[in-house]
Parts: sequence; C-alpha cells; structure tokens
Amino acid sequence: MSQIVALIGYPLKHSVSPAFQQVAFAYHRLDIHYEAWEREPFQLERALSLLRQPTVLGANITIPYKEAVLPLLDEVREGAIQVGAVNTIVHRRGKLSGYNTDAGGFLRALRENGNFEPRGGRAVILGAGGAARGVGFALMQAGIKSITIINRTLHRAEALATCLQDAMSVTKQNPEIKALPWEENIFSEALASCHLVVNCTPIGMKHSSTEGDSPLTARFIPSDALVYDLVYNPVDTPLLQGAREAGARTLGGLAMLVYQGALSFELWTGKKAPIDIMMKVAREELP
Ligand code: NAP
Repeated sequence: MSQIVALIGYPLKHSVSPAFQQVAFAYHRLDIHYEAWEREPFQLERALSLLRQPTVLGANITIPYKEAVLPLLDEVREGAIQVGAVNTIVHRRGKLSGYNTDAGGFLRALRENGNFEPRGGRAVILGAGGAARGVGFALMQAGIKSITIINRTLHRAEALATCLQDAMSVTKQNPEIKALPWEENIFSEALASCHLVVNCTPIGMKHSSTEGDSPLTARFIPSDALVYDLVYNPVDTPLLQGAREAGARTLGGLAMLVYQGALSFELWTGKKAPIDIMMKVAREELP
C-alpha cells in the first residue's frame, strides 16, 4: 500500500523539499509520495487530523506553522520543546510526535560545510523567528561562548534571549546572551568582535519583497568571520556576495536544508538518507 508524507505550509510553491525527498524514497525503492499540502491557517487543524490516517507516515512543517502545530500534537520531543518549534511530525498508530531537525541540520552544515567549530566562539544572530530559535539553541548546545540576537522587533529578540537562558539547565551551557535592536551603530559594534554571523531573516530571498537586498552592509563584516545565510534561494545571496567582498568565509542555506530533510527522512523511514543524491537534486532545483 502506498504511503504519504505531507509538507504543510503556506505558501509552498517555491519549496524544493518535494524534489529531494522524493528522490530519497525512490533510492530506497519505497512506495512513499511526498505531497505538498498548501494550507491557510484556518485549514491547519484539519490538515493535522488527516495526518492520523493509516496511509500517512508523517509530515514536514514549514513557514508559518512551526510553532502553531505544537498544541495539535500528542507529544513534542526533547529538542523541539526547548526550541519551541516543530518542523517534522512522525505518525505512529494514530499518534503524532513532533521533532525539530532544523537545529541538527544547521549544526551539521556549520561543521562539515562551513568547517567551523562553535565551541568558545562569539556569534551574532540576525532575526528572532522560528529559524533563529533553532540556531540559538543549537549554538548553545554546541558550547558557543556568546550569542547576540539582533532583531527588527526588539521584544522578540528579548523573548528569544529569555527562552535560551531558560534552556541553559537542559543544555548545561552558560553562554553570554544579549538582545539588541536592528540599528546601524549596533551592527558595527556587535559584529566587530564576532566569529560567526547567521542570517535568520528572509532578507534577500527570491520571490520576496527583499529579493536583491542584504541584511548587512559589507563594511560591517569582519574579514575573519564566517557568514552563514540560512536563505537558500538564490544559492548565492547578496549577503554572501558582500561577505566575500569583505574577505570573510561564507556558507549558504542549502546544506542545512538538505541535512534537516535527511534527518526527517530517517525519522519517517528508519533508513539512512542518501545525502549526496538529495544534495544534487536540491542544487539542480535552485538558480
Ligand atoms: P520567521 O519565523 O517568519 O522569522 C523571520 C525573522 O526575520 C523575524 O525575526 C523578522 O523580524 C525578521 N525579518 C523579516 N523581514 C525582515 C526585514 N525586512 N527586515 C528585518 N528583519 C526582518 O521565519 P523563519 O522560519 O525564522 O525563517 C527565516 C528564514 O530562514 C527564511 O528565509 C527561511 O527560508 C530560512 N530558513 C532556512 C532553513 C534552511 O534549512 N536553510 C531552515 C529554516 C529557515 P520581526 O520579528 O521584526 O518580524
């Protein structure tokens, strides 16, 4: 009997997940179909109830529902609880369990593709939404020494800082955590001494109102830092171009996208994800 994995979000037209997940199912000769379920907020509860059908293995959850699905699940697993966001659901005998694979995907790409070890380093996170939560938690778990969160809406940066401070007892790490407003003089000071800058805003994303923009002026970027842009479409973003001009090392969001998807694949199927094939297909899908 054919099975289904759903991708639930809104809008979904530009997602590359269906292409690289389908190729992974085909690689293992699994009769599973990865289906995009584009749903408006009022349709979310119904979509979650459909995940309890026997033919459904689970789902990926994407913008803007990673936080909204939490109360609709039967359990939320360690990691996703602290992050406060679920991007993967596994269905077993009518029960829905929520996981967060963004944090693991982020760290794997940082270490393997960015060749960066966070322990003892200083990081600046731009943004304080769902992705920033996963990134902050992952960096803290990995032993980062300081995290500065800069966000357009200051109270969201402060809320994230508080949430990370609350998670310190779980991660057994004690980094310095600051929340700052999105202002030019703040950027120059916060970035001057950092080793890692992570863009967790959608600025520069294709098909968005900020397509072609960068969240940072190149002159603020230290030449010895790694600049990691979570935006993966386009593959080479204006931020990454500016960082290269400043002499900094760069990492785009594509590797994280595939690694988080690979972790989800392994949760649904119990099989090892064919990363190389998934990466190749994801790259082909993007400009
Ligand atoms: P989100 O929850 O909507 O958060 C967006 C954040 O960006 C908020 O902090 C928001 O600030 C800020 N922001 C948005 N537009 C801005 C602007 N014009 N100027 C300044 N700040 C702005 O989104 P998310 O889920 O965190 O995703 C953020 C980005 O990460 C997206 O581009 C997404 O595709 C990418 N992402 C990539 C991966 C990957 O695997 N590579 C995984 C997850 C996410 P306010 O608080 O002021 O609204």
